[in-house]
Amino acid sequence: MKPSKHMVNRKSGRRGHVPCEPAWSSRLAQWDRQYVWHPFTQMKEWVEHTPLIIETGKGSWLYDDRGNRYLDGTSSIWVNLHGHRHRTIDAAIRRQLGKVAHSTLLGAASPPSILLARALVRLAPKGLRRVFYSDNGSTAVEVALKMAVQYWQQQRPPRVQRKEFVRLDAAYHGDTVGSMSVGGVELFRQRFRSLIFPTHSIDAPYCYRCPLQLQFPSCGMACLDPLERVLKRRRAHIAGVMVEPVVQAVAGMITHPPGYLSRVRALCTRYNVLLIADEVATGFGRTGTMFACEQEQVTPDLLCLAKGCTGGYVPLGATLATDNIYEAFLGEYRDRRTFFHGHSYTGNALGCAAALANLEVFRKEKTLVRVRKHAGLLRTLLQALAAIPIVGDIRQRGLMVGIELVINKASRKPFPFSARMGDRVAMECRHRGLLLRPIGNVVILVPPLAASERELRRMVHILTAACQAVCSTPGVARR
Ligand SMILES: *Cc1c(COP(=O)(O)O)cnc(C)c1O
Repeated sequence: MKPSKHMVNRKSGRRGHVPCEPAWSSRLAQWDRQYVWHPFTQMKEWVEHTPLIIETGKGSWLYDDRGNRYLDGTSSIWVNLHGHRHRTIDAAIRRQLGKVAHSTLLGAASPPSILLARALVRLAPKGLRRVFYSDNGSTAVEVALKMAVQYWQQQRPPRVQRKEFVRLDAAYHGDTVGSMSVGGVELFRQRFRSLIFPTHSIDAPYCYRCPLQLQFPSCGMACLDPLERVLKRRRAHIAGVMVEPVVQAVAGMITHPPGYLSRVRALCTRYNVLLIADEVATGFGRTGTMFACEQEQVTPDLLCLAKGCTGGYVPLGATLATDNIYEAFLGEYRDRRTFFHGHSYTGNALGCAAALANLEVFRKEKTLVRVRKHAGLLRTLLQALAAIPIVGDIRQRGLMVGIELVINKASRKPFPFSARMGDRVAMECRHRGLLLRPIGNVVILVPPLAASERELRRMVHILTAACQAVCSTPGVARR
């Protein structure tokens, strides 16, 4: 990459960042291409370029091994909340390291896992009173699916036939086989049809491209009629309904219309099936409330958490359950009602310590107040993008933004898969000092919750320039 404005002085670095020796940099780059298999990456293409190697971070900034700095516009894929190297979280991990890094929850307890469970129950929607730990979002979802199925088996009388799930189209719940089964991104699932279990799919409330060609609110959320139909028809067979509340992130930041989640909750209650809320992306303040479910006063039966749980420091997943679910697993040892599930690192002490510190920062820095304020600012700033011919839709909840690029604004005609418009915009952003990871033709902006007003302005400024640059490439904007 050619040197640019965001280049840091190599000798002094910036804010203590010292770039690598150039010879070491190129060796690392070579070994990356030789040994590492990157996620969601066409490696044939990857090895043709010099990889971006991030060495350090501070606040909303990441620094590469060559001395360039970038705004972290993805929050390192939606996990970072209070910025990199936050004093409180750094110190909490160090303090815990001075005690013990990990001890198992099988046959023993640990202070950080106890305190975190209590803190999560106090924060979560009312009624969720038990915390089951795992390692990441996918495992938090797997746990919820297995709990749901076993829950029905352990009813009196048993409802063993209740093992089917309803999911939304374009939903994303992770990449393990179970979480993929309740996912709806065909690109990710199609090769694994033989592994995944069948589900009932209903259209997502994707208002920009309404599957029913209706308009909100006059549509009366007719897209929920199929949910009611399937619940009615298969009521004896359905274990639960899986949703990403308020925002379907990987689907391209599909923002649900207000009232959607509470309607889903009401239907689940009416037909007596479990509602599983996957707040792996939306949890921990992303949408302006601690959990997105709060916005519609909804308590799911099971709640899946990960990503922001530790403030973006270390992997940790959690599945929260109601007393009703928990109690279905109680019985005598010989009854085998136990939940036979666990991972080697379940309830990891460093993870729980980081998560406790994460919650402490929320309190001390009044993070949620700031997020709501900055969400308003961001909404205003993003209006600058609306005039660009390829910007079709700007969707936002809190500090989660999706900008859908289209060939034609009026017809909303999408770019073909091979046009890689999101990638092109992201590359233009990177040259200007902003890291983004698009999803198809949707440019995703997920800044750290702690990003300053100035940093947010800069992100949107760069994003606007990048979209304009791509738009003015010959042959891009068409009628
Ligand atoms: C990222 C994500 C997951 C998967 O989490 P991992 O930690 O990557 O396994 C699940 N659900 C949602 C909504 C997500 O955004």
